[in-house]
Amino acid sequence: WSAETIAVVTGGNRGIGFEITRQLALHGLTVILTSRDTVAGEEATKILLEQGLKVVFHQLDIVDHESINLFCAWVKTKYGGIDILINNAGVSHNTGSENSVECAEKVINTNYYATKNMTKAVIPLMRSSAEGARVVMVSSRLGRLNGRRNRIADVDLRRQLEEVESEDIIDSAMNKFLEQVKDGSWVTGGWPQNNTDYSLSKLAVNAYTRLMARILSEWPEGQKIYVNCCCPGWVKTAMTGWAGITPPEEGADTPVWLALLPGQSVSGKFFAERREINF
Ligand code: NDP
Repeated sequence: WSAETIAVVTGGNRGIGFEITRQLALHGLTVILTSRDTVAGEEATKILLEQGLKVVFHQLDIVDHESINLFCAWVKTKYGGIDILINNAGVSHNTGSENSVECAEKVINTNYYATKNMTKAVIPLMRSSAEGARVVMVSSRLGRLNGRRNRIADVDLRRQLEEVESEDIIDSAMNKFLEQVKDGSWVTGGWPQNNTDYSLSKLAVNAYTRLMARILSEWPEGQKIYVNCCCPGWVKTAMTGWAGITPPEEGADTPVWLALLPGQSVSGKFFAERREINF
């Protein structure tokens, strides 16, 4: 990895994303810190530039298709391509049993659909290299498919999501959940009971990671793209109301490690604390 290596971090203005940006830049990469809010993004970039790091700002709101298109066009013109994408941007409303339509839609749309759209837009820009390009999804253990607690009750649906033969399987599960939030039947719908919308959004990200890894594994040698997801732990950021136990520096460790794994072909796996964990 060198200053020629281009890494992109979504939601880099604060929290874990800011730390991921800083740590990748400390490894000597050129990191594009993106943020939906230009002022916040420029301020965060300024802090890292003052530390002598190679960080460049660009606006990016992952739920806005036009913003994704503008970003991709800019990056292609300026750098010719991307080597590493860290899908870190996310929202949570800790809604639990008070799941509202507005919150559920926002969480599923941002954490799953927008992350997927961003990944699809960036994949054609990813550069060929011996190391292989990397996509890292900052996900959560709450999105585990087969955990003992907080899982989808429907065994058949769990199996379909595990095998994840197509994107439609994930989309239709998310759409079914959102329909049930709208008609009020989600409580008895057999969905995870802890932080339902957020847990499902991350479960969808994990399933999408496995699907993409399988599709991309068929690409020819030299054009490989490795896609993995990870849980940063319970991190002291705005998302947890600073209640988490892990400092953002540690939360960023596994995503950064995963992005920089030397000459590895690991793909479609789930990690926490630098170890593989079960989906
Ligand atoms: P923060 O709330 O501190 O940061 C979230 C970041 O995502 C912010 O930069 C936010 O931007 C950005 N973001 C939200 N929506 C969008 C959007 N539409 N487009 C671009 N950026 C957006 O949370 P964390 O740093 O804790 O979370 C980072 C990631 O880690 C998330 O994906 C989260 O789900 C995941 N995670 C966090 C855990 C924790 O304990 N904190 C545990 C497990 C996973 P803005 O500042 O404009 O709001």
